[in-house]
Amino acid sequence: MHEMSLMQDVLEIIQEAAREKKFGTVKTVWLEIGALSGVDPQAMSFCFDAVMQGSVADGAILEILHKPGLARCMKCAKEVEISARFDACPLCAGFELQVTGGAEMRVKELEVE
Ligand SMILES: [Zn+2]
Repeated sequence: MHEMSLMQDVLEIIQEAAREKKFGTVKTVWLEIGALSGVDPQAMSFCFDAVMQGSVADGAILEILHKPGLARCMKCAKEVEISARFDACPLCAGFELQVTGGAEMRVKELEVE
């Protein structure tokens, strides 16, 4: 499963942060998932517990923050919200869009002890 390996990456980020900032337990993980990232939030929460087992984030709560897809329309010269890559501009129905946000997934914040 694609999300399983993404969650392994998340775990690595958490462990790295734990080493750097010297905390022992993670209570909450805020994961930001962009609408255009291609990551399925449901699949992510599904494999969270299994991947975090035995780590500093064992038993932590996963909070998923949804970030909208943003693109700049060349025609309108405006930033518009889109829900999928290759969507048309909601203002002019054009396809001259450049994705500017919501294409990534990242660990936004950790609540630690
Ligand atoms: Zn437009």
